[in-house]
Amino acid sequence: MTVADGEIDLVTLGQRIRHARRTKGMTLGALAAAVDRAPSLLSQIENGKREPRLALIQSLASVLDVQVTELIKQEAPSYRAGLEIALVRAQRSPLYASLGLPAVNVSSKLPTEALEALVGLHDELERRAIEQAATPEEARRANAELRQRMRDRDNYFTELETVAAGLSAAIGHTSGPLTERALNDLTAHLGFTLHRTADLPRATRSITDLRNRRIYLPPPSHISHDPRTIVLQALGHFALEHQEPVNYADFLRQRVEANYFAAALLMPESAAVDFLQRAKTAKALAIEDLRDMFAVTYETAAHRFTNLATHHLGIPVHFMRVGEDGIIYKAYENDDVTFPTDVTGAIEGQIVCRYWAARAVFNAADRYASHYQYTDMGRGTYWCTTHVERTVDGDFAIDVGVPYAHVKWFQGRETTNRATSACPDPSCCRRPPADLAGRWADHAWPSARVHSHLLAALPPGTFPGVDDTDVYAFLDRHAQAANGTTGPSPQIAP
Ligand SMILES: [Zn+2]
Repeated sequence: MTVADGEIDLVTLGQRIRHARRTKGMTLGALAAAVDRAPSLLSQIENGKREPRLALIQSLASVLDVQVTELIKQEAPSYRAGLEIALVRAQRSPLYASLGLPAVNVSSKLPTEALEALVGLHDELERRAIEQAATPEEARRANAELRQRMRDRDNYFTELETVAAGLSAAIGHTSGPLTERALNDLTAHLGFTLHRTADLPRATRSITDLRNRRIYLPPPSHISHDPRTIVLQALGHFALEHQEPVNYADFLRQRVEANYFAAALLMPESAAVDFLQRAKTAKALAIEDLRDMFAVTYETAAHRFTNLATHHLGIPVHFMRVGEDGIIYKAYENDDVTFPTDVTGAIEGQIVCRYWAARAVFNAADRYASHYQYTDMGRGTYWCTTHVERTVDGDFAIDVGVPYAHVKWFQGRETTNRATSACPDPSCCRRPPADLAGRWADHAWPSARVHSHLLAALPPGTFPGVDDTDVYAFLDRHAQAANGTTGPSPQIAP
């Protein structure tokens, strides 16, 4: 056995040697002389800074009248020693080093209560750091909890509607598309100005200078999101009085609320509900019509529809955003449809049944045409309206579905597309057909694209993945330009 196995903690070993020495009533010098080593070496060993060879441990044990096994036990020899070990370890951690603070000398002069306080602070520091650096598992759990809260409230948030309705009224936006003029009025109403610039840090969609009440946006682009949405999301955080997120769940909740706020401004509740109720009466509900009425993207219209459908129209719904690879990027429901889930209850990242509309649409003759489909599932029949949107990251199916009993209110109910899904029964679509498998099962070796973001902890930081230095440097540059002081030339378009 050597200590180098890594199985023995040097700090604990040093503490046990010191404890045995003091119990025996020996000084460091006397023990060093007895084992024929320099006192400085022994001191380093007792402080856990040097690793003794087994022969030396045996000599020490024999001089100190204890068993070797007694010295190498992985328990602190006393309560006090346990605290000392904990403090030494904590002060050596990268987390403590990142604070740039001095290390406290762990000596017998340090009062036990000071030691207790320091160890307690280190434990709390570590706990908070772990809480902030959400692991994928924690992120999935936070997401699952958020979906459950949305379900409990039928995807409808009264307090957000109230704030949005108040602002819509303040700028006189009561129906139709939100114009650029109305957006500027809203921005001014909330005390901000808008500035477009090409040098936003990559990890950000917008940056707000709270001191000068300026919102920096990327230049208009035909491939990016609806530029109004970016502005509305940025304004949403202030209109909803969000504080800096305390953890990942909080960050996620704020994002969902800012998105909701943006959609509620683009499609004000009273106008949208009036439009939808008339369509329902005419048995002609269609996400496409809602989209065109307010000139928004299909996905925004689909989200807004799910906010309002249950609360105002009495129609339970489900929503999905699915990639061409069949992976669910976003999904929520209050109509009891059974989404695939992992053991933590997370839906995002799972693969949807290949017979569901959100995947079948990719095999349609014209995938960009509206796709309607009835799907018989174990627990009933659902009808879905699905639309494929092109994005810079590829094609995504946006799917809104309702239980069979509610299809009578929708356009597209006459479709003859029908499918049957037995998922999660693996015989449905998870196992390849027997003849295909017979030909290829032993002769195929795909190289999988690894989604590295699924393996790593989420990027750290109050706003995950955003580098504070980049943001502060950006604000510095632009604030100097805005205040007319010298600095890099501004890249601000009106
Ligand atoms: Zn299936």
